[in-house]
Amino acid sequence: MNYYSLNKQSPIASFKEATILGQAPDKGLYFPESIRQVDKELISNIENISNEEIAFRVIKPYIGNEIAEDELYRIVSETVNFPIPLVQVSENISSLELFHGPTLAFKDVGARFMSRCLGQFVKGADKKVTVLVATSGDTGGAVANGFYNVEGVEVVILYPSGKVSSVQEKQLTTLGNNIHALEVNGTFDDCQQLVKQAFTDAALNKELFLTSANSINVARWLPQQFYYFFAYKQWKQKDQPPVICVPSGNFGNICAGILAHMSGLPVKHFVAACNANDIVPNFMQSQQYQPKPAVATISNAMDVGNPSNFVRILELFHQQFPQLKEKFSSVSITDEETKQTMKRVYDELHYTLDPHGAVGYLALERYLADVSDSSLKGIFLETAHPVKFYDVVEPVLNQTIPLPDAVKEIIDLPKKSTLMNVSFEELKDFLLKA
Ligand SMILES: *Cc1c(COP(=O)(O)O)cnc(C)c1O
Repeated sequence: MNYYSLNKQSPIASFKEATILGQAPDKGLYFPESIRQVDKELISNIENISNEEIAFRVIKPYIGNEIAEDELYRIVSETVNFPIPLVQVSENISSLELFHGPTLAFKDVGARFMSRCLGQFVKGADKKVTVLVATSGDTGGAVANGFYNVEGVEVVILYPSGKVSSVQEKQLTTLGNNIHALEVNGTFDDCQQLVKQAFTDAALNKELFLTSANSINVARWLPQQFYYFFAYKQWKQKDQPPVICVPSGNFGNICAGILAHMSGLPVKHFVAACNANDIVPNFMQSQQYQPKPAVATISNAMDVGNPSNFVRILELFHQQFPQLKEKFSSVSITDEETKQTMKRVYDELHYTLDPHGAVGYLALERYLADVSDSSLKGIFLETAHPVKFYDVVEPVLNQTIPLPDAVKEIIDLPKKSTLMNVSFEELKDFLLKA
């Protein structure tokens, strides 16, 4: 499969090239040249097909022969080797729990797949690859875990000191080996700025082969389709497809769901649930796309003021607003509503939501209440384990959340990070020595 840049100013790239580059040279996002339909039998017989095989069959057309079949099968098997259950929460709402992976958030799926692909592609290369990534919390842990001990790859993660949760910090700083954590005395935006500068620094790029692992990379984006198929596999009323609601920040996750649907997965409608960062809900009202600085909320992984993957959604709908509106809605939920939803769902339905999932739950509940068809049912994606945000969740529920094993194992390990100022010179020194 080939990929073109949505800015249309760069040459076509193979899957391998798109994975290594991340972003096209013209700064556009890569997009597949064609969207293949999955076999009808994959859908009609899905209950009898293993998750590994579903994943393999969904991703294969996007890789072509660039990874040998047995290798690719191994990669997808390792990508989806944890449970992704669909849990009924109320009469008409179910939760797709994407937090049973090693770092307790859905980003594990994309990061595990991408790291293994990149590991394949750098085998036998003479230069080491350095993955450089800025994180506001969840990306760093997933990337660190995914790339841990992948040969030929060094990972450098920049995170804002004091601004990630303690569980998130442990996930980035306790692995060691080829994973290096830089604790920056600044904000997430400072971290991102430093990373951007590194990618354009000629001297640095002469010495090192730098690449990014952010969510626009096709090797992180495409495998996120898998769990939409797993959701349908567990969906009881096959003749009545679900409404699917996705807590959204950069819109990569929901965009993968829409791609799955356009490849043949039955879905009634998509709802993108946003926090106060309401760029896309506003666009759906006004057709004006107006990015603005991100505002901080309690669902911080969705604090994005210019969602990079939204251009891919527009491309999937061939830039046709009426078609988009038919299949896709977006709503904004306040922090107060998020907290009330966490409390209400815990008290009345005995289900513990994390703040991101709570935004998704409420957006779905409202959508289902507003549509005329009262028989519709839906799924929201529970994108993180509540323990990752226990500082928000525990006071709202007035309950402590038991630590899952994956957290117990790391919480007392010593943190290994290098403190640095917001200084490109310091970053450069570190990278050249790492
Ligand atoms: C990253 C993240 C999101 C947002 O996902 P996008 O693909 O950026 O829209 C939502 N919830 C959690 C917990 C996340 O880590």
